[in-house]
Amino acid sequence: MEMICTVCPTGCGLTIEMNDGIPGKVTGNLCKRGLAYAMAECTNPVRTLTTTVRLCNGGRPLLPVRTTKPVPRAQLREMVDVLNGLSVSAPVAEGTILVSDILGSGADVVATRDVMGV
Ligand code: SF4
Repeated sequence: MEMICTVCPTGCGLTIEMNDGIPGKVTGNLCKRGLAYAMAECTNPVRTLTTTVRLCNGGRPLLPVRTTKPVPRAQLREMVDVLNGLSVSAPVAEGTILVSDILGSGADVVATRDVMGV
């Protein structure tokens, strides 16, 4: 399996030897962080979810949000579906928790911008 390490701007090209779906030897990484990245990507890939939710009374239709920590990539679609059903009313302060422990992931969804009411 081939992938690019995204941990730092160097962007090393990684090659992971897979044996019956289990990651083995990793080459191409310039440091140990790349090894950890490759193993995580092969076993439990995670991403920080950044998206928007509907905003009322804020002078704009959408509020940018993100998860407070990376969440399983396999749950991203379902999380977006949850957030598509959410509507927030201004004013909203940056960092306000809008959804706690989304889908039991341990991550909260927070506003990433202050929005004053209109
Ligand atoms: S392997 Fe190390 S040096 Fe290479 S991109 Fe990943 S973190 Fe950066």
